[in-house]
Amino acid sequence: MKYILYARKSTEDDDYQILSIEAQIFELKEFAAKEKLEIVASFEEAKTAKEPGRIKFSEMLSLIERGRADGILSWNPDRLARNSVDGGKIIHMIDRGLIKALKFPTFWFEPTPQGLFMLQIAFGQSKYYVDSLRENVTRGMRQKVRNGVWPSKAPLGYLNNPKTRGIDINQEKASKLKKIFELYATGNYNLRELAEWCKRVNLKSNLERDIAISQIHKILQNVFYFGLMKYKGEIHEATHEPLISKKLFDKVQEIMREKGKPQKVKKHDFAFLGLMKCPCSAAITAEKKIKPSGREYVYYRCTKKKGPCQEKHFLRQEELYAQIKSFLQKVSLSSHDTEKILTELNKEEIQAKEQTKTSVQNLKEKLTETEKELEKLLDVYLDENITAEEYASRKEKLIKQKIGLQEEIRDFEQKGLSWLEPAREFVLSLNQATKLLESENKAEMTTFLKNIGSNCILQNRQLIFSPKIQHKLAAERSEAASESLRFSKMWAL
Ligand SMILES: [Zn+2]
Repeated sequence: MKYILYARKSTEDDDYQILSIEAQIFELKEFAAKEKLEIVASFEEAKTAKEPGRIKFSEMLSLIERGRADGILSWNPDRLARNSVDGGKIIHMIDRGLIKALKFPTFWFEPTPQGLFMLQIAFGQSKYYVDSLRENVTRGMRQKVRNGVWPSKAPLGYLNNPKTRGIDINQEKASKLKKIFELYATGNYNLRELAEWCKRVNLKSNLERDIAISQIHKILQNVFYFGLMKYKGEIHEATHEPLISKKLFDKVQEIMREKGKPQKVKKHDFAFLGLMKCPCSAAITAEKKIKPSGREYVYYRCTKKKGPCQEKHFLRQEELYAQIKSFLQKVSLSSHDTEKILTELNKEEIQAKEQTKTSVQNLKEKLTETEKELEKLLDVYLDENITAEEYASRKEKLIKQKIGLQEEIRDFEQKGLSWLEPAREFVLSLNQATKLLESENKAEMTTFLKNIGSNCILQNRQLIFSPKIQHKLAAERSEAASESLRFSKMWAL
């Protein structure tokens, strides 16, 4: 068997019990002589084994892979591997028979299942050691937090001071950051508008990227800015200098809570959002503009999110509203007329039911006859007047007839009146248009239009509306001033 000698000690090894590389080599050579082990190569490494990627370690494994050696001699398993990747590599090579022996003066190993198990534990113990080291680092961070010092990367507007290991104000960005809070506290800006404002004043993230809406949201909620800090879900007092007052922070939280409520103001302003698309297939968005006079206007325009778009126009909400009202007028039906038509529909329903009743009655009689015949047939068969084959064939015929009749009855009962419900709904929806015009409820108008229409296109400042077929007809007839509309017959079209 040919052994490779592997010694390792890194400067990070704070355990004084670990021998120096020289001492390890000396001990290992002595051990090899005693055990009569043939050493074909020797590697020493001054790197940590906590992370994979050691050069000498890889060289050693590649020698073994090429069959130049089949054993490793090292001081202790933890010299070989302290991470699961390298530990796994060794174990895998043992499994494949490439490594036939591992020798440690401090640890007995044999490539048996028990031996492998022990080795895994030894590597695992090293991993445990690394893990507990990490735990110590976290403990150090917690200590820092207890001392009121932010232990991690400084938030936007602050800097980590590498000398004092404390947190300093970033003079260049701090005033703009403070402004974000002040602007939001006025209640006139939403997160998106603030993100745009950041772009305008060239305020970038710590990584010099544009500030996203979600980041604005986080900033506005970060207690760090008025002198506290939240670490692992817990609030701590902090020693860094605040950028804003707690009063300003509280005001911001209050505004945020209000804005988070079911939109009170916004819904009213952008009532027709989500209703229309641009001919380019991108969605239509709305925005608020404030004129120098102080008057606010809401405009609708293409979001231009689906590539090039020809639409250059903005449509003011007032104009859009006028167009929607004009459409609603075309499809509206007064409550009085609605009542009349519903009464008419009820009459038709009663009439239709009467007709159906007669037809169903006839079918049911036929069904009873068929059932009687089936019974009779069974009697005849039981009296042994017909053969089993004859019985089977006649029975099949009658059963098929029975099922056919049952089906016909069901169809009659359902199909006969199936047009009535949609008809009623439609008439009521026409009446709803009237009610909406009276109420001037824009949000409900949007819902109504979405319900009765499919494609709403905003093109060249015109709302082009494709309502469902019945509403289209209603609108067209109303345009032709055809007052004597026979609604009940429309569904036949
Ligand atoms: Zn467009």
